[in-house]
Amino acid sequence: MKITVLGSGGNCTIPWILSKSKVSKEARKKGGRYVRTCPSFFIHDAKILIESPETIFTTLDRENIQDVDHLFLSHPHPDHTYGLRFVQSLMDYQTSKPRRILPLYMGEQAFERFSKIFYPSVIHFWKNQHLLEPNLIKDKQMLKIKDLKITWYCANKEGNNDTFAFLFEQKGKKVLFALDDVHDLELYPEFYDLDLLIHECGWFDYKPNGEILFFNPKKRWSEDIKFDETIERINKLKPKKTILMNLEEIYERSYDDYIKLEQQYKKLNITFAYDGMKIKI
Ligand SMILES: [Zn+2]
Repeated sequence: MKITVLGSGGNCTIPWILSKSKVSKEARKKGGRYVRTCPSFFIHDAKILIESPETIFTTLDRENIQDVDHLFLSHPHPDHTYGLRFVQSLMDYQTSKPRRILPLYMGEQAFERFSKIFYPSVIHFWKNQHLLEPNLIKDKQMLKIKDLKITWYCANKEGNNDTFAFLFEQKGKKVLFALDDVHDLELYPEFYDLDLLIHECGWFDYKPNGEILFFNPKKRWSEDIKFDETIERINKLKPKKTILMNLEEIYERSYDDYIKLEQQYKKLNITFAYDGMKIKI
């Protein structure tokens, strides 16, 4: 399986719009691995785009990707979906007809909320322009695409039922994508022998300089997992390798800080993702 990290950042890119933070300033100055766009991955084997944040407008070109055959959306939040307008690239403007229809895969409840609250234009692209076709997925539903077996797991069954993790299997290898809002993801037996875990990093209680990141570090800040809980999960699942992503601007951690953290957790074989990272498994 060949995977490219299109975006390693989170809701807020690095540099973040109008931000005067140290990491944003550093990214503007140094570029390269100091820059992080919104979460998104590309699976080359079957041309699957995972997540379509606004930043895919530049990252697909950056990686010279000219075909997308399938689109997976893990959940409806804007930082994962607001670049969906890229489907207009499938329109032939000479004939005003779509050149082809892109299959969009999304959880049932996720699509409901997506089409009503977050991104009603999806209906326009589907029903008026025929550029995409939604495939609504249920918990533990399995898809076969080329030689990939992909199982979808609902990560928030107590909540909105709208966030999914994906288990990719190919030639005896297993890769689990648990990209965002996966605090409540149930740890199924099939997650215990992963070749690769791609997981949200989780939020930190403190900034690298020791300052408290959020006003009350004891209080749960969001549906997202905490970094310490992610480490606990890695210790439990023992994947052969882990790549942590969703590296938010608010964490105020630079590329260099993550390199130091990698050293600290060397025994767990953790790598922090960067934009443009290539993975072969
Ligand atoms: Zn989210």
